Amino acid sequence: MPETITIIGGGLTGLSLAIALSKQGIPVILHEAGSYPRHRVCGEFISGISPSTLETLGISETLSDAQSHSSITWFSGDKETRKHVLSEPALGLSRHLLDDRLQSIACDLGVKIHTKSRIKPQPGKPGTIWSAGRKPTTGKWIGLKAHVRGITNSSDLEMHTGKSGYLGITPVENGWFNVCGLLKIDRSITARHQDLLPAYLRKNGNLRLAESLENAEWKPDSFTAVAGFELGLQTPDPGILALGDSHSIIPPFTGNGMTMAFQSAETALPHILSYANGELPWYTACERIKKDLHIRFRKRLTSASIIHPLLFLPAASPLVRIAPLNPILNLVR
Ligand SMILES: Cc1cc2nc3c(=O)[nH]c(=O)nc-3n(C[C@H](O)[C@H](O)[C@H](O)COP(=O)(O)OP(=O)(O)OC[C@H]3O[C@@H](n4cnc5c(N)ncnc54)[C@H](O)[C@@H]3O)c2cc1C
Repeated sequence: MPETITIIGGGLTGLSLAIALSKQGIPVILHEAGSYPRHRVCGEFISGISPSTLETLGISETLSDAQSHSSITWFSGDKETRKHVLSEPALGLSRHLLDDRLQSIACDLGVKIHTKSRIKPQPGKPGTIWSAGRKPTTGKWIGLKAHVRGITNSSDLEMHTGKSGYLGITPVENGWFNVCGLLKIDRSITARHQDLLPAYLRKNGNLRLAESLENAEWKPDSFTAVAGFELGLQTPDPGILALGDSHSIIPPFTGNGMTMAFQSAETALPHILSYANGELPWYTACERIKKDLHIRFRKRLTSASIIHPLLFLPAASPLVRIAPLNPILNLVR
């Protein structure tokens, strides 16, 4: 009888790993602090995912009807600076739908999902995986997201940059647009709840977009916010096997965080299978996973950490106008 695997955190990493393990006959228990379906702070723009990763995890069907996104328009403040076409199209699907589809497949496969179950880290406990997402810190970022309708949009993705952050707008299902930004926390902003989005945009110099959002239709309950996290490699906790955002957070402009969530599940899969089938001690499996994650993600995390601060410079707008965007984006995907 294989060992049972316990997964803490039912986002993309935890759910996709649970599905892949279950398909190989491994018993899985998954604890998720929230419930499904739910909106999540995310640009909902998936770039760099390969069909083979989705096949290995057994989740290709969840993205089979995703939108295909190729065109991007860049704005600096209110000014359009550049249009460009991606060398490889990205996929678009709301997290509301994607996470719900994944949890439904996992349930059908027999994964025991406990929702509204917030679990503490269990250092050193064999067979336990930590995929609980961003590590709460006193970090400088706030992420804001909502689904809106009734705005004009000139491309598959509009990227609006400014002095303290950026925001992407991309179509999702049923005529709704996902509006999602990463901005530096500004304590002088007193707006509450969904008014935070236009307030932060005004401070960022995206005045026209702020006004257009104020006049748009907002999907009820779709506004979500997360604050206080850091980008890049997350500080490792001894004895914890961290995957997905719990391991590392690539800056969102790359549109690669969801891909990395799936890839971290894919990277861990063979080692966890070996452990569950009694072929590898837990400690050795964890060491191999950490090494493979490092090799797989090192280049793009380093490249993204160099490029990210450039987006906030006063010179960002001329840079975006002349930069070879596809080769640059290929470094971070
Ligand atoms: C502003 C912003 C925009 C982004 N835009 C994009 C984009 O356009 N494209 C892209 O690819 N990526 C984007 N990302 C990144 C992407 O959202 C993440 O990389 C991805 O969600 C990581 O998946 P995950 O499963 O590792 O973590 P999560 O999706 O965060 O899932 C973690 C889960 O763990 C649960 N949890 C937390 N603590 C506990 C606990 N103690 N016990 C049990 N459960 C717990 C949470 O409720 C959550 O469901 C963006 C991120 C931000 C912040």
